[in-house]
Formats: sequence, C-alpha cells, structure tokens
Amino acid sequence: MKIAIMGAMPEEIAPILEKIGNYTTTEYAGNKYYEAKYKNVDLIIAYSKIGKVFSTLTATTMIEHFGAQKLLFSGVAGAVSPDLRVGDLIVATKLAQHDLDISAFGHPFGYVPEGSVYVDADKEMIAISKEVAQSMGKKIKEGIIATGDQFVANEARKNWILENFKADALEMEGGSVAVVCNALDVPFFILRAISDAADMDASFSFDAFLETSALESAEFVMQMVDRIIEK
Ligand code: SAH
Repeated sequence: MKIAIMGAMPEEIAPILEKIGNYTTTEYAGNKYYEAKYKNVDLIIAYSKIGKVFSTLTATTMIEHFGAQKLLFSGVAGAVSPDLRVGDLIVATKLAQHDLDISAFGHPFGYVPEGSVYVDADKEMIAISKEVAQSMGKKIKEGIIATGDQFVANEARKNWILENFKADALEMEGGSVAVVCNALDVPFFILRAISDAADMDASFSFDAFLETSALESAEFVMQMVDRIIEK
C-alpha cells in the first residue's frame, strides 16, 4: 500500500520527515516529493505550498503520478468554533470552499453546477482517529472545515463563514484536497491543529504557535498511519 502524507508548509511535514529518517527526494512539477519505506508500506510525503491551487496540484500528483492509495493531510488551522483553542485537534468530517461564489446566479455559496458544497472525508479513517485519540489520551473534535484562498484574520469574515458553512475551523487547502481525492476515489483524512482564532490577532498567534501546533498534528497523523498499517 502507498500512503500519502501531505502538508501545505515545510513546518507541517518536517516532524514527519524527521520521524521517518530515511527517504529519497524526487523533484516533480515544481515541487519536492519524499518517498520512504515505513514498516510494510510505502509513504509519499510533500508540502504543497499554501492555497487551493498548489494543494490541488500536489494531491493530484501524489495520486496520479506517485500512485498514492490513501491520503492524510496534517497541518494547522484557524478556529471558528469557540470550543477550539490553540493546540486543539480537529478532524474534518466534511469540507467546503468558502470563497467559491457564483451566488449572483442564485446558487448557494461554495457551490458550482455538478459539484457539491461539502465533500465528506473517509468515515473509516475518522473512526480510526477516535481509537488513536483514545490510545493517546487526547481529545479531538470532529467538525466542518471551510477552505479558501485567504488568511482569515477578521471577526466579520470568520462569522460569515460560520453562518454560511457551519464551519468549526478554516484553512487554505483542505477543501481542494477533498475535491481531488473524492474525484479520484482515494480515501482521505484531514487533520488540523489550531494555530489561531482567525481574528485580528491571528497572524501573531499563527507565528507563535505554527511549530508547536504543526507538531501536535504531525504526531497524531503518524499514529494514524501506524494504526492503518496494523489493520
Ligand atoms: N506565515 C505564512 C503564511 C501562512 S498562511 C507566510 O508568511 O508564508 C496560513 C496557513 O495556515 C495556510 O496553509 C492555512 O491552511 C493555515 N491557516 C492557519 N490559520 C489560518 C487562518 N486564520 N486563515 C486561513 N488559513 C489559516
């Protein structure tokens, strides 16, 4: 089996590469892909760069070029739900694109013809994440993640995303990775650790907590991989 582990920024995959230790690097389509044997599976690891376009390219490449059969995303996000604090983990049940807008034609936000507002994440991996959380003694929240090509550092925009998408967290890659994996029939799991509250202090909070939150998420994702391999 070949499992893809992806992030958006170097900080999000650094702890994973460190844990794997030995890997080969391949340059393809303007990005670096790291391949490794881990236990009895093949891993393909990469960070895409920020945003929906780069994450679409990387997820597609991991599947179509490198043959990944499952995809796990590890990264950080802004909290929308007041229950979520910096460092908390959120598992996406479904994802939407909050900046996709042809509402001028009467369509709902996040919708285009022949698409859907939400894309569901793989139920089996969500179930595994509950087992992992329990074995690690960690609390995880399941919820909706909204994705858009903007760093949200604004209470009004955040509330708009909450009202229109019932989102619990927001970030810039999950929704596009979901579309790719859904179209190519590859089960996917999106995990994020909170780095900020998407409010006026978001950029300061992000800078202060990126590394620790990214590590939190990466450690959990590696436990997920271990558990997937055991099954
Ligand atoms: N500091 C970086 C930019 C980070 S953009 C630089 O200067 O290069 C924010 C990244 O973290 C994105 O990959 C996104 O997925 C996630 N993220 C965390 N908090 C977010 C927020 N409040 N709004 C949008 N994305 C957020």
